[in-house]
Amino acid sequence: MTTKSPKATCLLCKSEYTGAGMTKHLQSCLPKSLGNQRKQQKFRSQPFFHILVKGAHLPEYWLHLRVSSNSKLEELDQFLRDIWLECCGHMSAFSYRRDDIEMGQKLKEVLIPGMELRHEYDFGSPTELLVKALTEYAGPMEKNRPAVEILARNEAPEVPCNECEKSLATQICIACQWSGSVWLCETCAEDHQCGKEMMLPVVNSPRTGVCGYEG
Ligand SMILES: [Zn+2]
Ligand SMILES: [Zn+2]
Ligand SMILES: [Zn+2]
Ligand SMILES: [Zn+2]
Repeated sequence: MTTKSPKATCLLCKSEYTGAGMTKHLQSCLPKSLGNQRKQQKFRSQPFFHILVKGAHLPEYWLHLRVSSNSKLEELDQFLRDIWLECCGHMSAFSYRRDDIEMGQKLKEVLIPGMELRHEYDFGSPTELLVKALTEYAGPMEKNRPAVEILARNEAPEVPCNECEKSLATQICIACQWSGSVWLCETCAEDHQCGKEMMLPVVNSPRTGVCGYEG
């Protein structure tokens, strides 16, 4: 599959980068933005992690997150469900080297920079994510700041239709999963033999086309 990934925007400074470029960029943009804040106000610090989440098998889907070190893994789990995963309330788990980690644990009790956890949603048709703690920072103490915030997110990859190879795909046929003819444009989806009820919309998530996920 030849996908094209458009550039994504850094929400801190609005500059645009592709996947690997964004990781590099944020490692300088994030401390710079904290430095600027520090000059503006004196603050009590509250630690947070810069976390990169990506599809274990679909790395074109990724999220750079700022997650409070005091938040629990279940808060990060809920965030990932809301933005990428939730279809019908499947089970999920974080693990490190095959050992499951309690959802009630706080990030600061579990993570150190450089550590990579695995997150699995739905053990039947799993969506597997890699959750990497890149750096821990001292941020300003702010009441009511959400536990998880997005720093940058991939733009939807552009996948050409498997039938006509001209238009971009908007639908995925779940009946054809294994035949190779899966991603379809609007026109080819109309004429497709499996019927409309087998179609799921293409969405910007590593769970696109899986179970009943519609975004
Ligand atoms: Zn930036
Ligand atoms: Zn489901
Ligand atoms: Zn087509
Ligand atoms: Zn089909």
